[in-house]
Amino acid sequence: MGDFDGSVAVITGGARGIGAEIARKMAADGAHVVCADVLDTTEIVTEIEAAGGSAEGRPMDVTDAAAAADAIKAIHSDHGHLDILVNNAGITRDQLLVRMKPEDWDLVLRINLDGAFKVTQPTAKIMMRQKSGRIVNIASVVGLMGNAGQTNYSASKAGLIGFTKSLARELGPRNVTVNAVAPGYIQTAMTDALTDDQRAALMKTVAIPRLGTPGDVADAVTFLAGPKASYITGVVINVSGGLYI
Ligand code: NAD
Repeated sequence: MGDFDGSVAVITGGARGIGAEIARKMAADGAHVVCADVLDTTEIVTEIEAAGGSAEGRPMDVTDAAAAADAIKAIHSDHGHLDILVNNAGITRDQLLVRMKPEDWDLVLRINLDGAFKVTQPTAKIMMRQKSGRIVNIASVVGLMGNAGQTNYSASKAGLIGFTKSLARELGPRNVTVNAVAPGYIQTAMTDALTDDQRAALMKTVAIPRLGTPGDVADAVTFLAGPKASYITGVVINVSGGLYI
């Protein structure tokens, strides 16, 4: 018996990186996972099915409110329930503020913050009717501590944390929890761009001097989405190896 037996979990940005790892762990624990992404999800879906799990891919651009709502409604009508939403889709467009292009500010906010609103709104309506559900938002420690060169990204992630806390208050009476996980530097495509020098400098700022793994983040997400976290809502779990304390 797995913690997620019979559950349906939607993971935005589930094609690769942290989202794909969350999908692997939830599927291994019995969930039917829906990897929703602008990228092709065939690889992760095939991998999960080959391991004996249950998964499907859904094309989804979280910036398109109507398409996101249609996808969420279709998932709900196909399965009869929707138990877990992980708002994980996110991008960076790093630059110092004085050099930042307005379109890079807009795009990061549109995907990382507005995208969570657009997917969560139709999902929350379903979960409120069900009187059960778990929502986990993937923020970042830079939303808590700031980072030079990431005003757009930090603003989006700080916004996501405020969104999490307010929505936790709205949905708690309907037995829907809303929490956030704030990763530090995690080994994925997003951090592959770091040079060796940048990596070495970073390690001096982390109490546990290694990059985190997608599995480190997925463990916190599955805890918050699982049965052991039923009385936890509105929190931010920092998975940063002590980058932010
Ligand atoms: P990633 O780039 O490997 O994965 C992000 C996924 O989001 C991709 O599959 C991408 O296609 C998808 N995506 C992007 N725009 C989308 C859109 N408009 N609609 C739907 N899907 C979209 O990055 P990752 O490192 O796995 O990041 C996952 C989440 O974790 C992001 O929210 C990121 O901000 C957060 N995070 C990552 C780190 C890190 O160090 N890697 C640290 C803190 C927070």
